[in-house]
Amino acid sequence: MSRAVVWFKRDLRVTDHAPLAEAARCDAALALFIIEPAWLDSPECHPRHVTWLLKCLAPLRDALAARGLPLLVRTGEAVEVLAALRREFACTRLFSHEETGPGWSYARDRAVARWCRAHGVAWTEWPQTGVIRRLKDRRGWAGRWQQRMDAPCVRVPAGWRAAPGFAPSTLPADLPTLRELGVATAPDTPPAGEAAAQQMLQSFLGGRALGYRRHLSSPLAAEAGCSRLSEHLAFGTLSLRMLHQATEATLRATSDRELAYSLRGFAGRLRWHCHFMQKLEDEPAIEWRNFARSADGLRPGDGSALQTADRERLQAWCEGRTGFPMVDACMRQLRATGWLNFRMRAMLVSFAAYHLWLHWREPGLFLARQFLDFEPGIHWSQMQMQSGTTGINTLRIYSPAKQALDHDPQGEYVRRWVPEFGSAAYPAPIVDERAAVAAAKQRLYGLRQTPEAHDEAGAIQHKHGSRKSGLPPSGNRPTRRTRAADDGQGRLF
Ligand SMILES: Cc1cc2nc3c(=O)[nH]c(=O)nc-3n(C[C@H](O)[C@H](O)[C@H](O)COP(=O)(O)OP(=O)(O)OC[C@H]3O[C@@H](n4cnc5c(N)ncnc54)[C@H](O)[C@@H]3O)c2cc1C
Repeated sequence: MSRAVVWFKRDLRVTDHAPLAEAARCDAALALFIIEPAWLDSPECHPRHVTWLLKCLAPLRDALAARGLPLLVRTGEAVEVLAALRREFACTRLFSHEETGPGWSYARDRAVARWCRAHGVAWTEWPQTGVIRRLKDRRGWAGRWQQRMDAPCVRVPAGWRAAPGFAPSTLPADLPTLRELGVATAPDTPPAGEAAAQQMLQSFLGGRALGYRRHLSSPLAAEAGCSRLSEHLAFGTLSLRMLHQATEATLRATSDRELAYSLRGFAGRLRWHCHFMQKLEDEPAIEWRNFARSADGLRPGDGSALQTADRERLQAWCEGRTGFPMVDACMRQLRATGWLNFRMRAMLVSFAAYHLWLHWREPGLFLARQFLDFEPGIHWSQMQMQSGTTGINTLRIYSPAKQALDHDPQGEYVRRWVPEFGSAAYPAPIVDERAAVAAAKQRLYGLRQTPEAHDEAGAIQHKHGSRKSGLPPSGNRPTRRTRAADDGQGRLF
């Protein structure tokens, strides 16, 4: 007799869901979400993530209950929760999606695998993105991504043989309150859950996508011009495959050239999503260690404690009071809303890495807490790429003044987020920009000239570099193609 637990993680939906489909073939099933102290205590977790998660769980619970499957929401370390559930339910199968997460989730998965082996529970995991487990070589990766994304979405049946004696968790009454989770106030978050994801998707493909490429770079226009689907992808309230297929269908149906151009740019980014996640999957240490080991110890904070002056600069950056209005405006928008467009994220990191000469780990943890869409594989790869520590990507140093000129020429954005700009209340710049950038360039270009850095770059390129056009290029120097690929986000890589 097969008795299955469907363990929901970052896949909070009922469509295109292989574990749910498989559970329908079992003699009895239950659905489970675990609120893990390891997650709540992790340095990347922020109250806005907790609030958003709880908002996603309620509609998931209702959608499953409507089809007869109770969702249990339990708090505790995964192995303890599973062990307790096994005592109540005698499960023989555990179904879940694969996860490419931070170190704590990797350790947890290994502990769960050991527990399953010791207790005769067969754990099956399915991929839900283009990330490939135990990948030996990047050759052919793009083709395998395409195959997965073009495969038919998984049809989830209308009902399960639910385990008797279990009722869906009543939300939010039997969830720990935010205060119990150590959270004082519930921050504002956008509408959550699968229906909200579908609405956002429809509004994008059905209209907003038209100006996508034109609106990407300006922090003002990007707010409505980008898809705004990243948090739904990060929490799995939208399946990447469904998004890919809906995008392709819209592309096939349109004769509008601007829309087609925008949609092609958007479709390419869905591939980047997995390309970057694959890097963390292949090398989990990039969460805390430089891709290029030749860059180790280059900046304060990398293997050494920050001195007081560096800590004060980091603090000013985190609080949006650097005296550089575009940097401060972006940081304040991010802190208030949990979202920022790509170019402005890159500018914030470039400022911390080059102007302030800070190692990426602490700024990266701070940003991870702010981004509602925190996706570890994308995040840490991008943090390193924008800080110049991948060893293979073009160094890109953003001038905040040029970004303001290009993307906020009337000063509307800065006025919105830094109303005191121009008054005595606004601080003076915390660094001399010209001197700081010149010193940063000299150190990094010097490092890249060394034979060790050169040899290492070959190995990094082999392991992590893209092999196909359409993926972000990762050569040391901007090539003709990377310059031509400048599509409004600038030469990103
Ligand atoms: C330092 C830094 C950290 C970042 N951290 C994250 C993160 O934690 N989570 C995250 O989802 N994105 C991250 N990004 C990438 C990008 O900024 C966001 O995906 C994007 O701003 C999300 O908004 P959107 O969904 O409206 O994007 P759209 O432009 O509408 O793009 C659609 C989707 O494509 C993917 N995508 C877009 N741009 C990129 C990119 N450059 N690299 C990889 N995938 C991309 C995302 O899944 C995104 O949701 C980071 C970028 C930088 C520079």
